[in-house]
Amino acid sequence: MSPLTAIIYTDSRVSLDSLRNAKNHSFLVEEIRKQVASLERREWRIKVSWVKAHAGTLGSEMADRLAKEAARCEGTGNMFTRIPKSTLYQEAREEPRHKWQREWTTSQKASATRQYFPRDQDRLRSKIKLTPKISAVLTGHGMTKAYLQRFHLSEEATCTCGNEYQTMDHILFQCANTSTQREDLASKQGTSHNQAQEGVSCVH
Ligand SMILES: [Zn+2]
Repeated sequence: MSPLTAIIYTDSRVSLDSLRNAKNHSFLVEEIRKQVASLERREWRIKVSWVKAHAGTLGSEMADRLAKEAARCEGTGNMFTRIPKSTLYQEAREEPRHKWQREWTTSQKASATRQYFPRDQDRLRSKIKLTPKISAVLTGHGMTKAYLQRFHLSEEATCTCGNEYQTMDHILFQCANTSTQREDLASKQGTSHNQAQEGVSCVH
């Protein structure tokens, strides 16, 4: 470690993300970059790291108190008016999504859908045209033999390929009778079916 090393701890993930985001040119972020660059020219090495908020860290609580004092001081108003609207919009847009993701991850409901979309980004990125059949698959109500047997609409759950349990995962990832469609889909997505399978199996 360089003898002149400073580690700045922050409990603000937004600040860390903003600093790491090369496309973020907001006033305060640019100011911090300039200060860091200036210190690095003088042989300093500056690291920024995240710390849990209000975790009894002496420095963290002191910084919190100083920030509150500074916010009350006259003359600092300029700093706040120089946060660009785009940053405020971005934070306002992201907060409900983070809240939604926390609820999605901890919810006891929709476990079938969560297997396909563990994170909200996965769903937002995928361009799926929702049809009643696709919705049925994604919500765990696809009319597989296992599903029909569960509701006593079929006596057995055997797949047409001979596998004794025809679940949706079986049809999507294992069934010999759907291998052509599976390979076709995988090649269109530019991914092997093994990768696709890993993606879903890992969340089981
Ligand atoms: Zn099968």
